[in-house]
Amino acid sequence: MSGEVKDKSAEIKALLIAEGGVDIDERVLGRITTPASGPGAGLKSFFLRFKGHRVRLGIKHDSRLKASLDGDEVVIHDQEKEIVRGYLEDAIAHCPGQVFITVSEVCIFNCQYCPVPLLEGSVKDLSDVETKISRILDDPKLADKLKAISLTSGVEKSAQHEAERIAVIVHALREKYDLPIGVSVYPTQNSTKLLKEAGVDEIKYNVETMDRQLFIKMCPGLSLDLILEALKDAVSVFGRNKVFSNILVGLGEDDSSIISGMHELIEMGVIPILRAVVEHPLRVETGMRRPSAERLLRLARKERELLDEFGLRADIAETMCAPCTGCDLIPHRDV
Ligand code: SF4
Repeated sequence: MSGEVKDKSAEIKALLIAEGGVDIDERVLGRITTPASGPGAGLKSFFLRFKGHRVRLGIKHDSRLKASLDGDEVVIHDQEKEIVRGYLEDAIAHCPGQVFITVSEVCIFNCQYCPVPLLEGSVKDLSDVETKISRILDDPKLADKLKAISLTSGVEKSAQHEAERIAVIVHALREKYDLPIGVSVYPTQNSTKLLKEAGVDEIKYNVETMDRQLFIKMCPGLSLDLILEALKDAVSVFGRNKVFSNILVGLGEDDSSIISGMHELIEMGVIPILRAVVEHPLRVETGMRRPSAERLLRLARKERELLDEFGLRADIAETMCAPCTGCDLIPHRDV
């Protein structure tokens, strides 16, 4: 694919992410997913594959983007003009290629952008997780497509209790399945060691924002210093290209805090995932604003530049969001 075509299609992906969803008759879609974690938790979506990109699109009936089926293809129009054609892609469990499970769909914290504490979801144990994985492996149409297991979790009782619970689950999965395992949790003093010893391959501790004032306002009770310390430690334990951290775009921060924040993380050996905030109906009072396509593209290209400068690669990850790419512009894959 030529650089020019890739650039153009990256612009289209940025536009699709910025809009957050398309107006489509969901009866034509078949398999729809409803993520249980993250800023889009509880909202219906589907996956579209086009020109080497994948995007997760919400179903949004007031979207300016209208989508319909033309044979096997999904066609998206922006004000009557066709902007892209692609194919529907099945999620295995949450996303294509992975069983991605939210172990505790509850949280004792109350981060202002996150709907999970307000959704009162379920808390899964090892047998729930194993049942989900076996169901995929027993399905001949899905078994071959399963490439990784990813676990994330809110905090049910305490961060330490959660890290220990996830470590026990991973330990059992490691014994049973020969698949890469990724975990994203809130860190504790010894979560990195615990999870590494349990058999985790890749780890994500989310900073959410590198704007310290905003962090205090958005994440009451959490510590950015603790997360940064944990990330540094995680790179020394898991290695470069194996540690990730979400930075939200659209909380009210400016580009300079995102760029200097990315620089700080990348210099440490951590790969940032730039995640557009979702203006979730349960969090309207937070005042988040979905970033524009131009902003997303500009920041993703800057991230690519920084990763190249420090010799990191975002396209060799095997678990969680970097290989999925559904919600973000991932350097080395999309830009
Ligand atoms: S990018 Fe991450 S949050 Fe988005 S669908 Fe993929 S795995 Fe889920």
